[in-house]
Amino acid sequence: MNLILLGPPGCGKGTQAKRIEEAHGQVQLSTGDMLRAEIAEKTALGAKITDIMNAGQLVADDIMIELIAKRIEKPDCKNGVILDGFPRTLAQADALSAMLEEKGLKISHVVELKVDDDAMVTRITGRYTCDHCGQGYHDEFNKPSIDGVCDTCSGTEFSRRADDNEETVRSRMMAYHEQTTPIIAYYGDKNVLRSVDGMAGIDQVTAELNEVIGGAL
Ligand code: AMP
Repeated sequence: MNLILLGPPGCGKGTQAKRIEEAHGQVQLSTGDMLRAEIAEKTALGAKITDIMNAGQLVADDIMIELIAKRIEKPDCKNGVILDGFPRTLAQADALSAMLEEKGLKISHVVELKVDDDAMVTRITGRYTCDHCGQGYHDEFNKPSIDGVCDTCSGTEFSRRADDNEETVRSRMMAYHEQTTPIIAYYGDKNVLRSVDGMAGIDQVTAELNEVIGGAL
């Protein structure tokens, strides 16, 4: 099964992709995580994209297409992938179709997580993760049981993403509506598009997603 999760920043694509990976074995490919790793490792690509990401703009299509093309070749992608954050433009969607076709593969489902933009700003600006184990928390909705101590690994160091401030979030939302929403119609025309209410609780969204993708597992 090859699945694409679509939706604006903060809609829960990453959280749900991790859950599907754990439950069903397909690999989560998060282009945002891949780019953040380039920045953390101080690579030449990392230096090139830092300002673009901090401004909430999209990284160039040719860079993104090459990144995914290389990643999808790795053996762990053989059982299928969950694309989280890619494609984000029509050019990326076209390139992905060509890449998969060449391998005799196809997209099983594209699931759009439908959410309310304003709620996303609160969701995103309050989120942070444990530096040690990566467990996610939120200032309002999901605090650790002991303040400042990770429930999972007892770590005490936490970080926020550089692009999770309100100004950048608004730019990321704008980029989503201008450049990414056209691909919803693109996949609608191919009859692979489904939608799930992303405003429901995390477990409810997982349950609905499992129902939608059930036939493809
Ligand atoms: P995300 O973690 O998916 O919210 O992505 C964080 C940032 O990485 C985005 O705001 C973009 O700057 C960049 N990015 C991630 N995926 C893509 C993509 N497919 N195309 C262009 N830029 C991307």
